[in-house]
Amino acid sequence: MLPYRIDYDGIVEEVRKRGYSRILLQLPEGLKSYATEIADEFSGVEVFISANPCYGACDVEIHGDKMTVQFGHSEIPNIDYPPNVMFVELFSDAAFDAVLGEFSTMVQCRRVGLVASVQHVKKLDEAKKFLMERGFEVLVGKGDGRVKYPGQVLGCNFSAARSIADEVDCFAFLGTGVFHAVGVRIATGKRTYVLDPYTQRVEDIEMHADRIMRQRFGAIALAERAERFGIIVSTKIGQRRERLALALKDMIVGAGLKAYLIYVDDVRPEDLYYDVDVYVNTSCPRVTYDDYLRFRVPVISPVELQIALKYKLWEQYSFDEIVGVD
Ligand code: SF4
Repeated sequence: MLPYRIDYDGIVEEVRKRGYSRILLQLPEGLKSYATEIADEFSGVEVFISANPCYGACDVEIHGDKMTVQFGHSEIPNIDYPPNVMFVELFSDAAFDAVLGEFSTMVQCRRVGLVASVQHVKKLDEAKKFLMERGFEVLVGKGDGRVKYPGQVLGCNFSAARSIADEVDCFAFLGTGVFHAVGVRIATGKRTYVLDPYTQRVEDIEMHADRIMRQRFGAIALAERAERFGIIVSTKIGQRRERLALALKDMIVGAGLKAYLIYVDDVRPEDLYYDVDVYVNTSCPRVTYDDYLRFRVPVISPVELQIALKYKLWEQYSFDEIVGVD
């Protein structure tokens, strides 16, 4: 059974208010096994279950005759969504007391920046109180127009962490997996820990960040020798950085090299078999970092291209983040 309380009647009312009688149900991978259960809960509307991947609020399938109802993500405030799109946020009830307790006894830092993935942002206040009662100074930063909640980080946006980086000694990320925490670590330069309420583990992600940085410097070194570049441009509403792609193309051509713009919805390494030496990824930054080893040739970020072409120094390295889209 889906472990969230959802106001299905409220959703249907909103769908009807906006003039639709069909909905397209978009679910992240982790919720797809509940798709039929969720579909059964709706009455008075026709439900179409989308079997396509859904990676985030950046990734909305839009069809004129249906209202897209995407579960599990919060809208990205600075995206201009069409009116037939709505989001159903799902906040986790998972308790952080045990991992916060462990964190409070294992770390040396006293000024802590708290960040969370959207599923856990509602736990930030409680976590802050817990740590302050144990003598920590705790800050929660405010992000830019790509994040909805204070303290929220996306895999492509760490602005909430960057906003307080100078005032804290370390970061605690409430959530699962290491990717967001690695991003916070590289974006801020501060030691970062994952506090996972499901495994009840506190993990220092230093080793993961080191591994990724070694891989990135290797990719830049390979790109320095490249002559033909494929620039990946996403068609997804919240990943499309076409202006950036065009600027990167100018930069490559200006350096006397060849560049090709490659327009794509889902970036799947097996579809990208073009005759290029390197891909420059302007779509979801996770493609660059998480899927790197699945590509036939190196994949680099826009900043990494600038370093490879000597427009930036290695010391100016930064993690790829999306602030706004075209
Ligand atoms: S662009 Fe990537 S990291 Fe950013 S919200 Fe979309 S799926 Fe997540």
